[in-house]
Amino acid sequence: MSSSPPIGTDVTIVGGGIAGLWLANLLCARGYNITLFERGGVGGGQTMASQGMIHGGLKYALGGSLGSSSEAIALMPGRWRECLAGRGEIDLRPLTPVSEHYYMFAEASAMGRLTSFFASKSLRGRIKKLKSGDYPRGFSGFTGVVYELDDFVLDTRALLDKLLEPISNRVLHHEFDPDNCSLGDRAAGTPVVLHVGGTRIETDRLIFCAGAATQSLLDKLKIPTPAMQLRPLHQVIVRHAFPHPFFAHCLTGIHRAEPRLTITSHRDGSGWLWYLGGQLATRGIDKSAEELCRHARNELAECVPWVDWTGARFSTLRINRAEPKQASGQRPDEAFAQQCGNHIVCWPTKLSLVPDLGDRVVGLLDSPRHPAPVSYGLPGANVAQYPWGI
Ligand SMILES: Cc1cc2nc3c(=O)[nH]c(=O)nc-3n(C[C@H](O)[C@H](O)[C@H](O)COP(=O)(O)OP(=O)(O)OC[C@H]3O[C@@H](n4cnc5c(N)ncnc54)[C@H](O)[C@@H]3O)c2cc1C
Repeated sequence: MSSSPPIGTDVTIVGGGIAGLWLANLLCARGYNITLFERGGVGGGQTMASQGMIHGGLKYALGGSLGSSSEAIALMPGRWRECLAGRGEIDLRPLTPVSEHYYMFAEASAMGRLTSFFASKSLRGRIKKLKSGDYPRGFSGFTGVVYELDDFVLDTRALLDKLLEPISNRVLHHEFDPDNCSLGDRAAGTPVVLHVGGTRIETDRLIFCAGAATQSLLDKLKIPTPAMQLRPLHQVIVRHAFPHPFFAHCLTGIHRAEPRLTITSHRDGSGWLWYLGGQLATRGIDKSAEELCRHARNELAECVPWVDWTGARFSTLRINRAEPKQASGQRPDEAFAQQCGNHIVCWPTKLSLVPDLGDRVVGLLDSPRHPAPVSYGLPGANVAQYPWGI
């Protein structure tokens, strides 16, 4: 089948979202000879559609308590800040957050039992109630309560550009095809064999970071576990003339442990578009795009009434979050990496949790044994466009 001599590599990664790119950087820095295959644009799955928040899980504590899982994710903003400062496991300098903080806001009369929760000792140091004179500019005209969180927001395209830069010769535009792969037998010391074009690649480890496509790859390779779950979202994109970016969860009048709106802002020409998630997106999955746009307009009029929404243009985006299957169907709270034989299946479950994923995968690998970089004659992959078309 292959005409050229086999190439030996340490690790082959399938999928160039945040998980694949993060791992590729981490492993290259540790001397592994890695190759990453991405079938489309880098980040063009969930990563470029994400809201870019690096968060410590406080929004999950809106039910009224901080569980142990919330404590695990609480470490992540600090890990990322170390990377931004050049002191972490990956040097992200000179990347800077598009917003240094994320905020929570609510009409003072609509805080209910959240008032005592926000005042609780467990949140000390993680959340700060702002004086009205210190509100970010997007809040001018708002008379309710604003809390500043330790979370921050990254421009996902700038992040992916930064991660791609040092390893661009290892990130190849190619669709991994399970029909051209045999998994080998780790116990017997035989590697994974891939046929790419005319080349036979023998790789010690195959790491699946294919997001929502992972389940079908596992099925085709007859890998029975782990199983994946998809949690659908119906996000809303709002183009408008308001000149200020806005990064905040709206908690006004919430009756369940999820922000009513989760708002981030993204460059749109010389202005900003607002990208809306939260309850709007999770509960909006059964609505048509037209219904959801109408609903979003009403929600903004109620939650952000100091902005004039008259000429705003609304559109929607359907996208699934891909995660390891949970018994309850609920969201997982940690990154996931499971090894079996020569392969590892990964879902970071959140952008924020990628440092946690890196720890887990590094802990599963043997030392590198194929030091020489290899060439496959395939084109490099480029970073995708934002799903709203910029
Ligand atoms: C709307 C939305 C908002 C979110 N906001 C946040 C947030 O603010 N903060 C946060 O922490 N998390 C957030 N998340 C979660 C976060 O975005 C995801 O957990 C993360 O991006 C998943 O990254 P990934 O690399 O696993 O998957 P993906 O980004 O989906 O990447 C998978 C890649 O694999 C490639 N691929 C698939 N099959 C193949 C194949 N056969 N061969 C080659 N390549 C293949 C795809 O093309 C794709 O590029 C959000 C998610 C969504 C959907």
